[in-house]
Amino acid sequence: MFTMECLGVNEKNNLTIGGVDVSELAKEYKTPLYIMDEDHIRRNCRIYKNAMDKYYGGNGLILYASKAFSCLRMCRIANEEGLGLDVVSGGELYTAIKAGFPMEKVYFHGNNKTPDELMLAVSNNVGRIVVDNKYELSMLSELSGSMKKEVRVSFRIKPGIDAHTHDFVKTGQIDSKFGFALDTGEAEEIIRYANSLKGIKIEGVHCHIGSQIFEIEPFLLAAEKMISFIADLKDNAGIEIKELNLGGGYGIKYTADDDPVQYDEFIRHVSGVVCDLSQKRGISLPKILMEPGRSIVAPAGITVYTVGAVKEIPGIRTYISVDGGMCDNPRYILYQSKYTALTVNNPAAKGEKIVTIAGKCCESGDILIKDIKMPHVSSGDLIAVLATGAYNYSMASNYNRIPRPPVVMVRGGKHEIVVARESYEDLIKNDL
Ligand SMILES: *Cc1c(COP(=O)(O)O)cnc(C)c1O
Repeated sequence: MFTMECLGVNEKNNLTIGGVDVSELAKEYKTPLYIMDEDHIRRNCRIYKNAMDKYYGGNGLILYASKAFSCLRMCRIANEEGLGLDVVSGGELYTAIKAGFPMEKVYFHGNNKTPDELMLAVSNNVGRIVVDNKYELSMLSELSGSMKKEVRVSFRIKPGIDAHTHDFVKTGQIDSKFGFALDTGEAEEIIRYANSLKGIKIEGVHCHIGSQIFEIEPFLLAAEKMISFIADLKDNAGIEIKELNLGGGYGIKYTADDDPVQYDEFIRHVSGVVCDLSQKRGISLPKILMEPGRSIVAPAGITVYTVGAVKEIPGIRTYISVDGGMCDNPRYILYQSKYTALTVNNPAAKGEKIVTIAGKCCESGDILIKDIKMPHVSSGDLIAVLATGAYNYSMASNYNRIPRPPVVMVRGGKHEIVVARESYEDLIKNDL
């Protein structure tokens, strides 16, 4: 049986997460239900943090990419674990502010930050604004003048690395809406320009080459190109870059076919390249940042559904419909992402039939898992879709006016709601 580190089976033969019986949680909080193992999230944070401390001698920082899963509790966890935060919108920034996150450790990303978002960021003294384009830079320069504040920036660079992953999440190549191209000289040009602007303090450069990446080579190549770029900037323009942010994108195990490397090994390899090349090029080792999102939260979360209609189309397919779908997990309809599911009772039961697990939305494409071998499943049974801790709650919508499920966290055998279930009343609260 494919499983996750935080899952187990108890004496009642029920699935457990963080030691807590999933069927009990479903009874108490109803379904659909997102459940996350907080201890496991914290463990993942520590794996990253310890590796950075070890391989960069304390001169490194992990930023949790909050777009994977953002809420007040998650911001607090990241802070308590000594991580910084990557935010990509005013809403994520606002969440961090309200969670009391130390603003100097917040990095603001995005290819089209609005004037209001930049104002919110600058007035709250966000640690870095990761500049994506010239328009943004000119707005920042003006803001800095009008608010009499120095704005500390980093630059989003396209290192021209083609990470072997789904096209939609390939962002390091030149044909990308994000950032400045390194190979065409665009990146150097914008940094020289920024250097001439008053109120803009150049701190770092950043790249993010994609997501759900399993190979280490693209990360090594990116690190190499970025260090060379930093050294070139120093040689050609006399501009010193103190910080290199290497982005996120480390793959996780969604199904038995996925084989991610150990994240601390990853960091060890990358640090080798970074340290060697810095020395060779005669630059001092920049502060290194990394921004994992998915790999911190995805393997710590499951979504529990109740099975409704079971529709067998003879000779064609059996649809098992559940009480959620693309509204709480749009990743299949967006990327044909693959997931694994288990029955909550008797999770180790042998698969006996290929079925398709479908959602309840009015879209034929509203599928959670296509063609999965499942044990016998009947209406009323609970099933758990695994590794849904990232990009599920954060991508959920109210399509079909379906209220979003709550998020429950388990920790030390206890459980607690961290995001409440939406009500029908919530759905109409902005309707006038
Ligand atoms: C999405 C994103 C991340 C996190 O990616 P994961 O695949 O979730 O690790 C980090 N940095 C930036 C700039 C991103 O856009």
